[in-house]
Amino acid sequence: MNHRLNLPRPIQILSVLAVAALFAGCKTAPRPGTFAPRKGDEIVVAGQFVHTGTRVVLWMDPGGYDAYRVERRFSPIEKSDWETSQAEVRGLSSPNRYNMRNRDLSREEVERVRGGGWDLPLLQRVVDQFVLHFDVCGTSRQCFKVLQDGRALSVHFMLDLDGTIYQTLDLKERAWHATSSNSRSVGIEIANMGAYPVNGRNPFADWYAKDSSGRTRITIPAQYGDGGIRTKDFVGHPARPEPVTGVLQGKELIQYDFTPQQYQALIKLTATLSKAFPQIKCDYPKDATGQLIRQKLPDAELKSYQGVLGHFHIQTDKVDPGPAFQWDYVIGGARKLLHGGLSGMADETSKGHMRAR
Ligand SMILES: [Zn+2]
Repeated sequence: MNHRLNLPRPIQILSVLAVAALFAGCKTAPRPGTFAPRKGDEIVVAGQFVHTGTRVVLWMDPGGYDAYRVERRFSPIEKSDWETSQAEVRGLSSPNRYNMRNRDLSREEVERVRGGGWDLPLLQRVVDQFVLHFDVCGTSRQCFKVLQDGRALSVHFMLDLDGTIYQTLDLKERAWHATSSNSRSVGIEIANMGAYPVNGRNPFADWYAKDSSGRTRITIPAQYGDGGIRTKDFVGHPARPEPVTGVLQGKELIQYDFTPQQYQALIKLTATLSKAFPQIKCDYPKDATGQLIRQKLPDAELKSYQGVLGHFHIQTDKVDPGPAFQWDYVIGGARKLLHGGLSGMADETSKGHMRAR
């Protein structure tokens, strides 16, 4: 049976085109006042939302951390303005804690992107490193307080104990977290108290304890309240119960591992960034035998390196993300996601160490 209307051929074609245009119109021109849906797992890359499959709180979201502001976030509000902040805090030397990526840009391109006018292809050309830090603050709220209110530093992402990712700036911005790599990198501060000489002092007694069943748990010191952790009544446990030792920059260090929630979120973010920025290879710096390089990369190697790396690969005076960090677990997990495709990931949603200018 023929379902086609008995119309002359040109009119049939026209009516097909009209229906197609109607559908296209629905897609590209929503009714004024329609709210664009958000899933709560998006990061912002040159003004575009990109899904990660894990919880992300943006700087413009309620409870977010906004590194575009010039005020201090946690001072008394009547003293938070830039002029008072500048007078009260020696470390605050500039109202903006970020500036413009300027790597390999022509004068024309500089003129185009000054003030923020990046497009994705240009940003993809400039960004080729993802730098991992531990924050030595213990929580993302405390980390933002140190960066924004005390140090005039910044970082694109903070990863809290419960696996919540906070984005503080669009990735088009040059955040101040990793000196010579700032113009080419995306940075993340992972909440963790950091690594210390094996026989030296450390703050572990204040931050870790055994619970009644003998399990190691994170104990946020009372002075930080609930730590600003987004997950209500969250109790964090390091992925391994005992502190981990290892050599970085030629020094033997000890550190508690990150939480399983942090690893899961970081795996998804790493896969996302590697996909969004083709020059960020899903790999870490390895020697000829395939082992993690455990000190700063020689300058020429650092210059040509494209991928995920630690702050310690960039500066000799840094050891983050520390000896406990599980490189193979993160990179392997991210590769699995990339290999299996990122589609469907979004549906899983809802579950003082820097001198960097
Ligand atoms: Zn660092």
